[in-house]
Amino acid sequence: MKRFWEHINVLPDIIKLIYPRTCVACGQKLVQGEEMICIPCRIQLPQTHFHLMPDNPVEKVFRGRAKVDFAASLYFFQKGLRVQHILHAIKYKQNKKLAYFLGEYYGTQVKDVLQKWQVDMFIPVPLHPAKLRQRGYNQSAEFAKGLTASTSIPTRTDLLTRTVYTETQTRKARFERWENVKDKFAVTNTGELTGKHIILVDDVITTGSTLESCAQVIQQMGVDKTGVLTIACAAHH
Ligand SMILES: [Zn+2]
Repeated sequence: MKRFWEHINVLPDIIKLIYPRTCVACGQKLVQGEEMICIPCRIQLPQTHFHLMPDNPVEKVFRGRAKVDFAASLYFFQKGLRVQHILHAIKYKQNKKLAYFLGEYYGTQVKDVLQKWQVDMFIPVPLHPAKLRQRGYNQSAEFAKGLTASTSIPTRTDLLTRTVYTETQTRKARFERWENVKDKFAVTNTGELTGKHIILVDDVITTGSTLESCAQVIQQMGVDKTGVLTIACAAHH
């Protein structure tokens, strides 16, 4: 005769039967052994491999605008497709674990490059405190913490803050957008960045305005090398 506590072990399986887990990218049911993203999606999602490609399109985004020595993204962003579903889940469906999971996954790929590059820390692009309270977490910080888990490079969320909260800026031209985010980040512990190799981490890179501002602010504090890693980029294949 089984004791009560032995039955508790089967509860997760029963819960899975009632609420089948689905792939965040394609919505198909996950099978046993699959986590978050199903195996077909893991194979088919459009990875950039930009970390192995000097002079890649993400690095080119910053050319003539900010000194960025290294930049790469995990996936190509395509509107309406699976990568967008992933980003949507991270940003609007409270799927904090997914951001961490992707960081951990990407970390295994970029580990060697980051080691050669002697990276000191990841700094996620901060959310304004009001926005952080509203969402409960910063998706870029969760992605960074996942990167930390597989690279052992620390994530610091206490060095950079966002001082002004801006609404969507999609209708403005690049220059105006840049003006809009200019001076809206600030470094909090000024002495800690001198001579360091920093990787700025964000969820998506489109125009690069936000990361450009962050790069300028940390470089004013004496950062030696600046890199960028994001989950997705709008660059073309
Ligand atoms: Zn899938």
